[in-house]
Amino acid sequence: MTEKIKIDDGLSIGGEEFTIIAGPCAVEDEEQMESIGRFLNRLEVKIIRGGAFKPRTSPKDFQGLGVDGLKILYHIKKKYNFKVISEIMDPRDIEEAYEYIDIYQIGSRNMQNYSLLKEMGKVDKPVLLKRGMSATIDEWIKASEYIRLKGNERIIFCERGIRTFENYTRNTLDLISVPIIRSETKYPILVDPSHGTGRRELVLPASKAALALGAHGLMIEIHPEPEKALSDGAQSLNFSQFEILFNEINSMIKALKANM
Ligand code: PEP
Ligand code: MN
Repeated sequence: MTEKIKIDDGLSIGGEEFTIIAGPCAVEDEEQMESIGRFLNRLEVKIIRGGAFKPRTSPKDFQGLGVDGLKILYHIKKKYNFKVISEIMDPRDIEEAYEYIDIYQIGSRNMQNYSLLKEMGKVDKPVLLKRGMSATIDEWIKASEYIRLKGNERIIFCERGIRTFENYTRNTLDLISVPIIRSETKYPILVDPSHGTGRRELVLPASKAALALGAHGLMIEIHPEPEKALSDGAQSLNFSQFEILFNEINSMIKALKANM
């Protein structure tokens, strides 16, 4: 049975909950985050994502706003009462980020950064562990054990696709990991269909499949104007596309519950 991971007194991930997390790939500025915050608050989304430290393939690409990005996130969090998830790449940033974020994210590129995993094991906040893009499920589970063995039991897995020979999509979203993680660990698993596909038109069908396979939630990239996004615009949904997804997934949850 999957444990519920407590985020705070009224909020958890796992168990019977299905959690939809949304937000931009990267925090770009106050105005972008205000517009996203207002929109997600209207839909009663409780957890907002946004990268401040961005692991980019090219050093010439936008690297994120760093601590200034965390401060923007924090401002929106306080204004709309969100919980915030953001990626930390360097163990040296864990402490400074502590006051701004509620869930630490370990990105795909850092799934086997053992120094980072061990430090995350010492924090008293939940950690979302994304699957390494070339990691087997077994390697992913072992990575989670580095966190657990240092004392942090609040682990959330996140499937985000793996590299294969297929190049129509950015990654191959290996959704069968969902029931496997459910049976092999006691931790919840979310699915990131944005990085998992790299194409916004595939985010909704991938989300439905994730729900059908037993995922505990989704993490989705959105942007007020995806064509202007500083990163990952092609996989980001605009507000109306996200609202359609949100409503369709919620109706699917209702239908599944009614049939139980
Ligand atoms: C992200 O979620 O911001 C991200 C960079 O994803 P990944 O680590 O899965 O590539
Ligand atoms: Mn992204």
